[in-house]
Amino acid sequence: MHITETTEKVFAAIDDIWEEELLFLKTIGSFKSTLGNEKDIQMYIKNHIEEMNMKATSFVPDPKRLSSYQNYGHVEWSYEDRPVVVGEWKTNQPKIGKSLILQGHIDVVSAEPEHLWKHDPYNPTIVGDKMYGRGIVDMKGGVAAMIHAVKALQKAGITLGADLQIQTVIEEECTGNGALALLDKGFVADGALIPEPTTLRAMQAQVGVLWVRVKVKGSGAHVERAEKAQNAINKAAYIIQALEEYREHINTKPKHPDYSNHPHPLNVNVGTINGGDWPSNVPSECTLEARIGFYPGENPADIQREVKEWILKATEKDTWMKETPPEVTFYGFSAPGSSHSSDLDIFDSLNNAHQLTTNESLEQTAFTGTTDVRAFDEFGIPAVCYGPSGGNMHGVDEYLELDSLKMLTQSIAAFILDWCKEEQTSE
Ligand SMILES: [Zn+2]
Repeated sequence: MHITETTEKVFAAIDDIWEEELLFLKTIGSFKSTLGNEKDIQMYIKNHIEEMNMKATSFVPDPKRLSSYQNYGHVEWSYEDRPVVVGEWKTNQPKIGKSLILQGHIDVVSAEPEHLWKHDPYNPTIVGDKMYGRGIVDMKGGVAAMIHAVKALQKAGITLGADLQIQTVIEEECTGNGALALLDKGFVADGALIPEPTTLRAMQAQVGVLWVRVKVKGSGAHVERAEKAQNAINKAAYIIQALEEYREHINTKPKHPDYSNHPHPLNVNVGTINGGDWPSNVPSECTLEARIGFYPGENPADIQREVKEWILKATEKDTWMKETPPEVTFYGFSAPGSSHSSDLDIFDSLNNAHQLTTNESLEQTAFTGTTDVRAFDEFGIPAVCYGPSGGNMHGVDEYLELDSLKMLTQSIAAFILDWCKEEQTSE
């Protein structure tokens, strides 16, 4: 692929609408779209897509329909007012290229503790060549880029040789059911690009992820009789220790080939703990929740069994817990890993586009987290993550590097042209 008159026109259009793209990103970054609060941003994007003369559809996921998929994440909450959105740009011409889905998640993780931020997490701020805000790099920047790549193609008067969809989904950060809902409804294509932050590399593999909840029981009392009581918080410390040992254990096992160069591919993270309500009470319950990584090719149900056995075995060291074992349950992510052969067409097309934009060849990467790519695996659709650079994802002062956003927008536009092809209009 080399610079043609068409790509020149499209890149010029990207320059022309650059300020508009930044403003769009600041606007979507100002929606606090944590779990349960996704409607306003989704309606904003839906309107935007309609203004681009695309056919926009939105609906809420139906967990009953989705529960039979391997990628389904068990939910304990409602989908009311929590839509997924899709915009379709259909070609009237005979199909000469391959159809494409550009997909991004608009849900963000909590920005707490917000007082630690230098910048207001929901009032995105540009300082130098960076924009700060919750979700700005993961992954509202990618959403802004994919929408503006399409806008630039339209502005340059391009007619694509295959259909294109823009999808914005919920729950990438907890179940993946948003992406699954769109695919299940028939919004499929010959390939998909998800501009998750990858420092402009192509994600070729990702680990599996599951969430576990452990409810530790104690026997509460006033602290003066504490020697007779069983303190659930103290007991939970055994479980935390056991999960730490499990993390070491799984990282000493032979590595999946995609992760052979990674020093520590599998993480175990205790993310929440809740117990007790008074310094002078012995807490009778303590619940902790953790995230566990595992390799592509391993079955989430097998890992759940292994984790449960590991935890229950650890409780045998304590007489109380042995007799009063904690409850171990699973919810949210039950996400298998993903590994793609690097000779898929989609990597070639992306490599062409990336080289055109950066003059460098495309590097591939294996990710130690999960993304919605795996939902596409279940539908046999080749999908790849390729997105901007930045830092502090899921942390304080998350930021996006703006040069990478510009390059990403160009790469996505070039990738669309390579993948969908351009309809040659006879003049
Ligand atoms: Zn993300």
